Amino acid sequence: MHPIVILGSGLAGYGLLREFRKRDANTPITLISADDGRVYSKPNLSNALSLGRAPEQLATDDARQAAAKFNARILHNTRVVAIDPAARMLRTAADSVAYDRLVLALGADPFAPSLDGDAADEVLSVNDLDDYTRFRRALAEKQHIAILGGGLIGCEFANDLAAAGYRVSVVHLGPWPLERLVPREVGELLTRALEAHGVSWHFGRTAKRVERADAGYTLTLDDASQVSADLVLSAIGLRPRTQLAQAAGIATGRGIIVDQRLETSIPGIYAIGDCAEVAGHVLPYVQPLLIQARALAAILTGTEVRLSYPAMPVMVKTPAYPLAVLPPAANAPGEWLIETTEAGIRALHRGPTGALNGFALGGGETGKRAELAKQVAALLA
Ligand SMILES: Cc1cc2nc3c(=O)[nH]c(=O)nc-3n(C[C@H](O)[C@H](O)[C@H](O)COP(=O)(O)OP(=O)(O)OC[C@H]3O[C@@H](n4cnc5c(N)ncnc54)[C@H](O)[C@@H]3O)c2cc1C
Repeated sequence: MHPIVILGSGLAGYGLLREFRKRDANTPITLISADDGRVYSKPNLSNALSLGRAPEQLATDDARQAAAKFNARILHNTRVVAIDPAARMLRTAADSVAYDRLVLALGADPFAPSLDGDAADEVLSVNDLDDYTRFRRALAEKQHIAILGGGLIGCEFANDLAAAGYRVSVVHLGPWPLERLVPREVGELLTRALEAHGVSWHFGRTAKRVERADAGYTLTLDDASQVSADLVLSAIGLRPRTQLAQAAGIATGRGIIVDQRLETSIPGIYAIGDCAEVAGHVLPYVQPLLIQARALAAILTGTEVRLSYPAMPVMVKTPAYPLAVLPPAANAPGEWLIETTEAGIRALHRGPTGALNGFALGGGETGKRAELAKQVAALLA
């Protein structure tokens, strides 16, 4: 019997292990990961190129080093294929592992774009260090990269590639980049800043076909226009990994549904990170998962706490035009009030009574994010 088993070696899985060990040095813990268990910070994947960092420099420890550091058993390259909650048992391809309490830190899968054409399966996506290693290898000798999706990850890769000297084309369904996070005026400043670095945009478009061409690929968009590129990277969004939980009878929605004790519908099974849905919120960012990891470490070591979230701004790593965003809740009544300042741009979303619902800050204004976030109501009390 393994008192505590964590599934996943991303920031959530290792974040929990770290927080748990701050409170309890000895209770046996097993961490199981489908990947090789290297410790790395995923946000570094979208700015490593222009910083001159090779993929292998991004891992701080391998699984063996992490096991020693955290006094844990780490089963890497081991995929869990089923959970049997009645028997408190996990099944891997080769083995069974009994648990007392189980934490799902399974992350999210990139959406696969729906594409026709003979090169549709050659489109890359980057959601972990192995993907990134493949991507960096594929970049050798290439010059022109097409990115599908102009959300946070697409914009960050566009900036990183452009800063490293690549020509970049972004195909984005929205009318401006990050349209779910920022108003048009802010999106346009980012558009122009990235254009100045060699990024060209195809707004309001999706890619329909990818075909091999003489050198590289031809993308055909939904208006029949074509874009040539040496490599195609898809960044059109993520879907929480819920299948394993769902098959075990655990309640799922957009993510694996947990309460404010991070517990799923089955007692003794918890979920954190990109795979989790708390009070309707699926928040695929670092700050929420670190807050979850601290709370769950307390709960697993016998201190009852309830998860709460402050307002949490996210920095967009686009040095061509840095942004800090705290989007208002969907359908929050109010309007964007936009001010261009000497330092940059400040877009504040205010409700009918003047309350600050959220913001988007650009350029030098990003420095005000912490101060402004204090004026926004807590996301989860
Ligand atoms: C390029 C990029 C840049 C980003 N930049 C930022 C940023 O600047 N700021 C920010 O806040 N957020 C950023 N994010 C988001 C942030 O990195 C994620 O929210 C976070 O890393 C998710 O961690 P996780 O541990 O939940 O998931 P993951 O890191 O995806 O880990 C999931 C783990 O589960 C394992 N697993 C899955 N299925 C199984 C199974 N069946 N059996 C065993 N193991 C399994 C996987 O092998 C993996 O180890 C970025 C994301 C990307 C892709």
